[in-house]
Amino acid sequence: MSTIVKSTLSASGMEASRLLTRRSFVAGIGATAALVALGGLGLSGCAPKTQGSGAAGGEEASEDYDLVIVGTGGAGLSAAISAYDAGLTNVVVLEKMAVNGGNTNFSSSGMNASETKFQKEQNIEDSNELFVTETLDGGHNTGDPELVQFMGDNSAAAIDWLDSLGIKLDNITLTGGMSVKRCHRPTDGSAVGLTLVPGLVAAVQERGIPMKMSCEAKELVKDGDAVVGVKVDEKGKAKTLNAKAVILATGGLGANQEMVTKYRPDLAGYVTTNQPGATGDGYVMAENAGAELIQMDQIQIHPTVEQDTSTLVAEGVRGGGAILVNADGERFFDEMSTRDKVSAAELEQPGGFAWCVFDQQVYDANKAIAKYDDAGIVQKGASVAELAEAIDVDAAALADTIAAYNAITTDGVADEFGRTEGCIAFADGNMYAIKVAPGIHHAMGGIRINTKNEALDAAGNPIPGLYAAGEVTGGIHGNNRIGGNAVCDIEVFGKNVGEVVAAALA
Ligand code: ADP
Repeated sequence: MSTIVKSTLSASGMEASRLLTRRSFVAGIGATAALVALGGLGLSGCAPKTQGSGAAGGEEASEDYDLVIVGTGGAGLSAAISAYDAGLTNVVVLEKMAVNGGNTNFSSSGMNASETKFQKEQNIEDSNELFVTETLDGGHNTGDPELVQFMGDNSAAAIDWLDSLGIKLDNITLTGGMSVKRCHRPTDGSAVGLTLVPGLVAAVQERGIPMKMSCEAKELVKDGDAVVGVKVDEKGKAKTLNAKAVILATGGLGANQEMVTKYRPDLAGYVTTNQPGATGDGYVMAENAGAELIQMDQIQIHPTVEQDTSTLVAEGVRGGGAILVNADGERFFDEMSTRDKVSAAELEQPGGFAWCVFDQQVYDANKAIAKYDDAGIVQKGASVAELAEAIDVDAAALADTIAAYNAITTDGVADEFGRTEGCIAFADGNMYAIKVAPGIHHAMGGIRINTKNEALDAAGNPIPGLYAAGEVTGGIHGNNRIGGNAVCDIEVFGKNVGEVVAAALA
């Protein structure tokens, strides 16, 4: 093995080797596995920038970049585009999975933003201050006011930026915890992730920014205090990617049951809405590089997850008029309340679940429902009575529940559960229901950052060369995230971090 590597050793490879010997490799996730990979796998990479290196006790290929971005979710892709457009062209984006987009692919509700041109066009009165206040309130004032303010203040610009990339989010709705329509969706009302990810990927490709698929970041490389690269496993080959800056955009931890229960033992056994790559790698790498992790026990459960398929039923379904009823056919809570409260109320119901019940109007207005239907999780009836039979709920009770709910709209009566948002009377005709219960959804805590997306240590000092954006960071949501705020977070801070790094390296 060493012969093969040494035979490819070039002058630049020797330089790399010298550099590598004076760098400390920060132990990251699967450090042992990475070492095994180094010793046991072929290193004859064929990437043009690959250099052989023959440091004593370690042999591997290396590549040089200005910026390495880890993760191809909304945050990572946005960072790549904005860094490139700000003049940083030697950029690479890594993705451990064979598919790009991460959990951003499944973002359903939309992107919250205030004072946007689309709100103005639609006469929706909103303000950045209201957005900030409602975000902090939603998180019971445990979010970081400075980060939240930055997000609100830059949200409209992020909507414009996406529009300039051909990603138009002009269909505006409500999610739980907001008093005005500020959740921006694609024009046809479809799930935002399926427009956002392909749009961002296209913009990355148009710029010729390389995306390395099946390339897993294993650990950060440090030179003194500074992060100067990433050790990766690219399709079974160990490499070091040298970089002037590294952005962690690795998303959350929902698919890592061990890590979830480390921080939240009470969530053992919960289903997750997360894709299998959401294993919390970024937290481990950042922490080992000296960054502080904050609010890691703040793992959001989402109240409307179909349990057999782990399908998340978008909040827009309730925002469009759907109600939650228990096994007795009765409503039990304000469906538009915050996710933590709705989840807790559901768990108190018989069997710990609810039926999300809606009519044809809601079905037609939410494109995602046809997908749920295709997945076989939507129960149907041509009337309330037929639906009640299909879901084994008392028909008279369900009819009474719907009549009482309709009266909020038709007779202006106050809802006994205090619902004031998205109260839309059911029309006669087809009725639908999806059985839901809470599921692990979003890591609200994470790497401590400032408004420059610099990863901070416990004393609040930036770790040179290390940045983070998106779900892997903490501080925006506090202990409860408002639906639609994660997409705002990844877009505002993803765009920001690319610009910040480009300016820092200029
Ligand atoms: P965000 O919403 O913050 O952009 P996502 O979950 O959408 O987060 O995307 C994060 C992406 O990072 C996912 O595609 C995930 O597979 C990828 N990822 C996570 N850990 C690693 C890693 N160690 N190396 C490379 N990619 C990673």
